[in-house]
Amino acid sequence: MEKLHINCIGGDYDILIAPENFEAALQLPGQKLLVCDSNVAALHREKAERFLGVADTVVFPAGESAKNFDTLAAICRRAAALKLDRHCTFVALGGGVTGDLTGFAAAIYLRGVNVMQIPTTLLAMVDSSVGGKTAVDIPEGKNLVGAFHQPCRVVIDPGLLETLPVRELENGLAEVVKTAVLGDAPLFEKLEANAGRLLEKPLPRALYKEIILRCCRVKSAIVAADAHEHGQRAFLNYGHTFGHGLELLSGFRIAHGEGVAIGMTVAAELAVRLGLFAPEAAARQRELVRALGLPTGVPKGTAPGAWFDAMRGDKKARGGRIVLILPEAIGKVREVADLPEDTLKKFLREITA
Ligand code: NAD
Repeated sequence: MEKLHINCIGGDYDILIAPENFEAALQLPGQKLLVCDSNVAALHREKAERFLGVADTVVFPAGESAKNFDTLAAICRRAAALKLDRHCTFVALGGGVTGDLTGFAAAIYLRGVNVMQIPTTLLAMVDSSVGGKTAVDIPEGKNLVGAFHQPCRVVIDPGLLETLPVRELENGLAEVVKTAVLGDAPLFEKLEANAGRLLEKPLPRALYKEIILRCCRVKSAIVAADAHEHGQRAFLNYGHTFGHGLELLSGFRIAHGEGVAIGMTVAAELAVRLGLFAPEAAARQRELVRALGLPTGVPKGTAPGAWFDAMRGDKKARGGRIVLILPEAIGKVREVADLPEDTLKKFLREITA
C-alpha cells in the first residue's frame, strides 16, 4: 500500500492507494452514511456497505445533472432523519460528481462532519477526491456554489477502474497528462512509454497505481501550499480555460476530458507562438494526447468570439481578465495574466480559421 500524508489548512489526512486490506482502510469510528450514484450503486454498493457497516445509503441518478441543491438536500435530510451526530462520516463512493456533492453535504450538515472519499473514476482518483473542493451546479453555471472541506481520508482502489467505461477512463487520462505537464516530467515519459497499454483490459494495475500515486503527490503538494486557491493552485487549471470554453459552446457534448485535451493542445500552441515552449515539446504532448484516444483539434465551426466570451465568463477569470496557464517545459507551467486581449483574440481567430 502507498500512503501519502497531506498536511494543509483545513485538516491533515491520509491518501491510501491500493491498500492490501481494503476493508481495514475503510474503518472509522462513528456512524456512516454512504452516498453513490445509480451506476456505482449497481456495481459496488453491496461490497462497500458490507465493508463500511453503514447506517444507510443515499443513491442518486448518475450524471452531472444530479449535482444540484435537490440531491444535496436529500443527503442532508437523510442524515437528519437518521439522527446522525457530529461524529458521523459521510462516505462518497463514486466519481467527481459524488465526491463534490457528498463533500459539500458534509461541509454544511451540522456545520461540518467528516467525509471520506472512495473515488471510483480515474478523474476522481487523480484529481477531484484530493484537495477539498466541493460544490454543486446551479443553472447559472457549474460548481458556482460550494465550500472547501478537506476529507478525513481518501481510499483509492485502482481495481475499481475495471468497470469504468472507456470514455470515462480517457477523461481521467486527460487529467493525468495535465498533471504530468504541470509538475512531473518523469510521469510524462512513463505515459509516453506505456500509452498503448493504458486502455487495454484488464487494466495494468501496477502502472495505474504508480500513475495515481504520482498525480496525488503533485496535486497534494500544490494544495498543501495553497489550500484556498490564491496562488499556484491555479496551475491545476492547465488546459481548462480553453477547454471549459469549448465544453460550454458545445452544450457539454464535448466531455470534460476532451475539453482539457484540446485545451492543453491549444495552450501549448499559444505558448510556442509566444516563445515560451519548444515546438518539439508541444508535438510530444500532442502525440501523447492522441495516443490516449483523446482529441487535439478545435471542433470545426468554433466561433472565436463566442469562445473568447465563454473563457472570459469562466469563474476563474479575474475581474473579467482571462488568466492562462501555459507550459514552459514538460513538467513546468506558468501563469500568464497579462496577455493583451487583442493578442488572444487574434490567436483564437487563427486557430479556428
Ligand atoms: P462522474 O462522477 O459523473 O462519473 C462519470 C461516470 O462514471 C458516471 O456515469 C458514473 O456513474 C460512472 N462511474 C463512476 N465510477 C464507476 C465505476 N467504477 N464503474 C463504472 N461506472 C462508474 O464524473 P467524473 O468524471 O468522475 O467527475 C466529474 C465531476 O468532478 C464534475 O462535476 C467536476 O466538476 C468535478 N471535479 C471536481 C474537482 C474538485 O477538485 N473537487 C476536480 C475536477 C472535477
